[in-house]
Amino acid sequence: MATETQQETLGFQTEVNQLLNLMINSLYSNKEIFLRELVSNASDAAEKLRYEALENGDLYEGDGDLNIRISYDKDAKTVTIEDNGIGMTRSEVVDHLGTIAKSGTASFLGQLTGDQSKDSQLIGQFGVGFYSAFIVAKEVDVFTRKAGADASEGVHWHSEGKGEFNLGTVEKASRGTQIVLHLKDEEEEFADGQRLRHLIKKYSDHIALPVVMLQEPAPAMPPAEGEEDTVEEAVVLEDETINSASALWTRNKADVADEDYNEFYKHLSHDHGDALTWTHNRVEGKQEYTSLLYVPTNAPHDLWNREAPRGLKLYIQRVFIMDQVDEFLPLYLRFIKGVIDSASLSLNVSREILQKDPNAEKLGAALTKRALDMLTKLSKNEEKYQTFWKAFGNVIKEGPAEDFTNREKIMKLMRFASTHNDSDAQNVSLASYIERMQEGQEKIYYVTAENYNTAKNSPHLEIFRKKGIEVLLLTERIDEWMMSHIFDFDGKSFQDVAKGEIDLGDTDNEEEKKAQEEAAKEAEGLTERLKECLTDKVSEVRVTNRLTDSPACLVLNAYDMGAQMKAIMEAAGQAAPDAKPIFEINVDHPLIQKMDTESDEDRFSDLANIVFDQADLAAGGQLNDPASYVARLNKLLLELSK
Ligand code: ADP
Repeated sequence: MATETQQETLGFQTEVNQLLNLMINSLYSNKEIFLRELVSNASDAAEKLRYEALENGDLYEGDGDLNIRISYDKDAKTVTIEDNGIGMTRSEVVDHLGTIAKSGTASFLGQLTGDQSKDSQLIGQFGVGFYSAFIVAKEVDVFTRKAGADASEGVHWHSEGKGEFNLGTVEKASRGTQIVLHLKDEEEEFADGQRLRHLIKKYSDHIALPVVMLQEPAPAMPPAEGEEDTVEEAVVLEDETINSASALWTRNKADVADEDYNEFYKHLSHDHGDALTWTHNRVEGKQEYTSLLYVPTNAPHDLWNREAPRGLKLYIQRVFIMDQVDEFLPLYLRFIKGVIDSASLSLNVSREILQKDPNAEKLGAALTKRALDMLTKLSKNEEKYQTFWKAFGNVIKEGPAEDFTNREKIMKLMRFASTHNDSDAQNVSLASYIERMQEGQEKIYYVTAENYNTAKNSPHLEIFRKKGIEVLLLTERIDEWMMSHIFDFDGKSFQDVAKGEIDLGDTDNEEEKKAQEEAAKEAEGLTERLKECLTDKVSEVRVTNRLTDSPACLVLNAYDMGAQMKAIMEAAGQAAPDAKPIFEINVDHPLIQKMDTESDEDRFSDLANIVFDQADLAAGGQLNDPASYVARLNKLLLELSK
């Protein structure tokens, strides 16, 4: 009789320790989720086995009846979760139950604040998985044996969740994984049939395998040294299947409650919060498939990590094939979670095949359309849509560049801040903008800036305000880049109010145009003088039709790169072309008029430079040489006080 052999003690990866500490403190109020996490893992293990058994039926070892068994022992204060899924080898145990393999773990841990409610939300989004066992257990034993391996290759993992874990090799007759939770004294209440039944029903009803509650006490404790080394199996007296045990997406919509959809979402996404919305569809005919797509309520912590895993779970005729299939949805819909169960793809499909399979491509196009339709529907609910837009709006903005086919649909989903609003809310759609357009207005006007206040108070908006023309305020980093990929909407082209000549369409009447031309002629002397004086800084000086209150503003040529794009390029280490702006002056402004009468060339130059720099500042620009600006201004101020 062999004892437990090859014993060793290993340390958890630092991140695991951090997670364990945080989790036990932050998830305390939601401790029952441990059961969902462990059942969820057991279900994944069964799915993996089923998939591998497609190639090698021997892995079933004569037992193809996959299920999850739960038992408890009130006296011993244990709860046991057991599956007959794929199981783990010794090295897999070390990898999976000793480290966190997830991408972005470090950045996630870095975001934690120590504020429990905020952290618990973050941890929820990150997903705690197996380690959640330690919310309720002071000690955890895992007995596992890989499907197809010899009974002698069982592995016993034991830990108190504090820094390290022990490993040993044991006999394990049945394949799969058994997890024994030794409950903390204050968590004894979980060793209770009623309680467990209720939790399974609540959290795991959607699991496609039977989750069976054993009526008898849990299996024996692990063998002590020198004792019988086999892990005894529980004696099943009277089993009771607690859940519906049918894959949720195969059920009829009418039979699935919102809570069930949400629980299934949590299982899929490892998100602790509910989904914002979902769409569940069955399609028959040539391309036969069922899809269930979800929009999360909150952005995941790794939304901006382009390498982060994403994509749908692929099933073929109910058999789980692979996770994170990113062939079906474009990158700008990377936040969507869900399942696709296809009857038209072949069971031995691989990622490589998927990438080339025309069927998969068609499926992808159909799913993209479904997802966009779901978002369009969501947009009818203003409040929910605002939640969505705040979390994912900037991702959607990648859409027009990525997906030409659906450009119009994507643009309809966009929302912007606008001069039409009193607040910085991004809730104006292009369609509603067009509805409010003035008689004779032909373009959709927008301004881009670093932030809302800069945009809202930009001198470039003056003429628009005067004429009551609405301007969209684009203040996100991605906006200028996005605008370089969209040209028109509903037949109306876009115009950046800080670029090129401002063409106000027929909202300008003939008289105004004439007056404008005359003013330009009259000011020729001044514009020439300014041009000479600012020759290093400007490409042109002209009389403006944009301003009513400010003395001057800077304008870019229609095809010049704006400040946001420049910043993006520079951040990426690329040199951005340095285009000189056009300096537009408001000849009705007293400061400009004063400048015109200034005969002292030095003084004229100082004034010209100050007005130029101020125009730059007012539009949110950063001065090239702020010290000279300050020196010139102080010189003038001193003269004033003389
Ligand atoms: P996640 O499930 O998000 O990957 P977990 O911490 O829950 O993270 O689990 C880590 C890994 O441990 C899983 O990905 C899986 O490979 C393995 N694992 C956990 N539970 C089981 C189980 N019951 N059977 C087989 N493998 C498991």
